[in-house]
Amino acid sequence: MAHYFSMLQKIRYFQPNQNSKRIEVHFGKDFYLHAIVQGIGTLWMNFNFNIYSFMKNMEVPVLMYHQFVSEVDKNSKIKTFITARHFELQLKILKMLGYTTTTFRDLQKIGLENRFKKKYIILTVDDGYSNNYEYMFPLLSKYNMKAVIYLVTGLDHNRWDMANHGEQKLPMMSKAHVKELIKSGLIEIGSHTITHANLPTVSHEDQVQEIAGSKEFLEKTYGIKVTSFAYPYGQLNEAVKEVVKDAGYTSAVSANSGTGKFEDDLFEIRRSGINKDGIISFLVKISQPYTSYKGTQWKKQFVRL
Ligand SMILES: [Zn+2]
Repeated sequence: MAHYFSMLQKIRYFQPNQNSKRIEVHFGKDFYLHAIVQGIGTLWMNFNFNIYSFMKNMEVPVLMYHQFVSEVDKNSKIKTFITARHFELQLKILKMLGYTTTTFRDLQKIGLENRFKKKYIILTVDDGYSNNYEYMFPLLSKYNMKAVIYLVTGLDHNRWDMANHGEQKLPMMSKAHVKELIKSGLIEIGSHTITHANLPTVSHEDQVQEIAGSKEFLEKTYGIKVTSFAYPYGQLNEAVKEVVKDAGYTSAVSANSGTGKFEDDLFEIRRSGINKDGIISFLVKISQPYTSYKGTQWKKQFVRL
């Protein structure tokens, strides 16, 4: 067993479409913890343990959050929230396991082909609730960790959830809040449309307005470059994806769709939703083969036997 692990401590593997470069993956002192996390993910998936397919299926995990609260709201119907205490525990686990939080903007800077040189993970947050500023931002600052927040630019409250689920009215962050997040250097701002539109169901003109208009608004208002987009409700089709590309974004995140591999499609990056997950569920979702496993399951629906 010891030999097995020492053999894994330095693994070279082939990255086919990144200029055929060989990339070295170094696991540090925390290798054993890393192995435990990956092991849990792998066991959960009921894989036959095969190190070659295991490494081939690596991808930077992308997590999806929405709301951060002080106490669990039993009346909430959509339940897309996490308590601050629980979120802090997750940040501590990530630190302990040697993960580095990053953003899509930072990954572009270092080059996607270098994304396995550290144990990167991307925390993303949808909608832009003011509770992000209140509960999440102080914790990110405390642990010096990063996140990508996708803002709905044209609403000051969750009108879409009130209309669809009878959810209580909750405020979005103010411009002053957003400016502070940007200033910290810990937050990348992305777009989540103007009105939280279900994009495949609206006209092409409205798609353009929602996708390009929100980008323009964010760039003008905050003096930043916005290059990442999140599809509301995770709903998209090929036409919507084209509008996102034409608007000048360089990546877009979905929810339960996509292959789980960045190089397959940067405009349908699969994310794992984190709400009331317990520790085991969280460990499964941050293990690198999990997304790939979910992506493989997703791809099966397109295979006609
Ligand atoms: Zn949303």
